[in-house]
Amino acid sequence: MRELNRKIPLKEYAGLLRSYLKPQRKSIIWLSVLLISGIIMQLINPQIIRYFIDTAKTQESTTPLVYAAVLFIVVSLVHQGLTVAAAYIGENVGWIATNKLRGDVAEHCMKLDMSFHKSHTSGAIIERVDGDINNLANFFSNFAVSLLSNLLLVAGMLVLLFREGWAVGLSMTGFIVFAIYAIQYIRRFAVPHWGNLRAMSSRFYGFLGEHLEGTEDTRANGATGFVMQRFHSLLREWLPLRVKAFLGWASMWITTLLVFAIGNAVAFAVTAYLWKLGSISLGTVYMIFYYSELMAKPIEQIRTQMEDLQKADASIVRVRELLQTQSAIRDGVGVPLPSGPLAVTFDDVSFGYDDDLTTLNHIHFHLQRGKVLGLLGRTGSGKTTLARMLLRFYDPRSGAIRLDGIDVRDTTLPELRSRVGFVTQNIEIFQGTVRDNLTFFQDDIDDQRIIAVLEGLGLGQWYQSLPKGLDTPLESNGGGLSAGEAQLISFARVFLSDPGLIILDEASSRLDPATEQKLEHAISRLLVGRTCIVIAHRLATIQRADEILILEEGRIIELGDRVRLAADTRSRYNQMLQVGMEEVLV
Ligand code: ATP
Ligand code: MG
Repeated sequence: MRELNRKIPLKEYAGLLRSYLKPQRKSIIWLSVLLISGIIMQLINPQIIRYFIDTAKTQESTTPLVYAAVLFIVVSLVHQGLTVAAAYIGENVGWIATNKLRGDVAEHCMKLDMSFHKSHTSGAIIERVDGDINNLANFFSNFAVSLLSNLLLVAGMLVLLFREGWAVGLSMTGFIVFAIYAIQYIRRFAVPHWGNLRAMSSRFYGFLGEHLEGTEDTRANGATGFVMQRFHSLLREWLPLRVKAFLGWASMWITTLLVFAIGNAVAFAVTAYLWKLGSISLGTVYMIFYYSELMAKPIEQIRTQMEDLQKADASIVRVRELLQTQSAIRDGVGVPLPSGPLAVTFDDVSFGYDDDLTTLNHIHFHLQRGKVLGLLGRTGSGKTTLARMLLRFYDPRSGAIRLDGIDVRDTTLPELRSRVGFVTQNIEIFQGTVRDNLTFFQDDIDDQRIIAVLEGLGLGQWYQSLPKGLDTPLESNGGGLSAGEAQLISFARVFLSDPGLIILDEASSRLDPATEQKLEHAISRLLVGRTCIVIAHRLATIQRADEILILEEGRIIELGDRVRLAADTRSRYNQMLQVGMEEVLV
């Protein structure tokens, strides 16, 4: 009930409705026309009945009766037709509006920075983009129009009733106020039980899911008895909740029936009294009774609309919050990056994912154009973090990162990310064709170029083996590809976008010698005419570095020319060469 009493921010709803329904103005006008015609027909029909009854009583001829009956049937049929057409248009309007909203929310999520994505699980984001917006479908398609037309219908009936005399009008108005109040009052008792029931069922399914997934562990540890006992006790808890919820629902239903029966009784009492006085005809008596019957539907609908609004309320708040979340990373003024290889400067950069932790500590180095930097360090030392900063997934806490002297914060993000290629540790292959996976849906890259790149990377044979060539579908997560092939595909992606700086975050898993050789070959091709930072886990990759940088807990502990460091017996790098990389690093 608390939620019912909460103030509904009408202004916000109006804003949302306006912006998403505006493009569909035509459909909405049609919808309104249909609904208003429907209202008029519903209002007319009882008048025909009155005419029918009164005429039957006073006239001998049956012709006017036949006309009235035919008219009644025609009006009823047309009304049904209008209802169907209105439902069709309404549903379309709702789907078009929610799809647009869904698109906007999804696009917004894609643009939000990494700190947003790291703090929201994909499940939560899906729930926003799909669950919440589904809740809004009815709000868009029905809410305004249906609420308005039902209100109009009730108002129209009241006007017609007042025409028959103030006593009739007043008593029916009184009844409507009473009905709405009574139904709301009884809801107070029913609604919490539904909430409890929903909470219980999600608890039960949560329990079930967890134990079905962990069934191997459960059995191995002999916990089956315990699990079954929990299962039964959950079921025991569930039953009384269900009974209560059902009783709540039944009491609401009975109350509604009772309230409308009272309405009928009131209508009967008033009209019987007036008829006895001789101030209304028998036809009018029936007509008023008919209106009081008809009243039930719009009142019920207004009530369910208000309930839907409350459901939509939470979703609207959540969706709006999401749309208002701003990326901490904003596009810069748009200083263009020069073409060709890019020099990299880290100017005393510090950064931490959390305020109280420092992941990178005063990183300071310069890498000349076209040079290769080998980045080494234990796991968790901050190598991937350093790479992410170059692509501005995060901005430094202090200091600055420059590419060819241009602060990365001054470029636009699309420009920056087209000039810096990043081959990540975990290669994402998404569901789509080989072509889509290579070009990221950029269709201005022609097939000849793609094939040339694949052949250049030693994937020629693999390409020949594809049953449908570039149109061969790939499964998500790289199913059907070897780890090495996935890595080569990610190289091909970078090749096609032709960046001036490449960051290669090597997968730490080992590859077979043949694949490794292919990779070596591919990397050599990749590096020509580019600056490169390789986060290497294999000595073979490091051999091609001009400079070496070793990180430890976010600090630079060694930096220098590779050949010089290799010759220096006191250097970490030299040690690594002596005893093997793993031994020194891990
Ligand atoms: P590896 O060799 O295992 O790939 P790495 O050197 O690439 O390690 P990073 O991924 O840069 O290490 O991580 C550096 C530190 O930052 C680690 O302590 C890690 O726990 C932390 N970290 C990494 N990513 C995040 C994140 N998204 N949010 C919070 N902390 C993170
Ligand atoms: Mg890493």
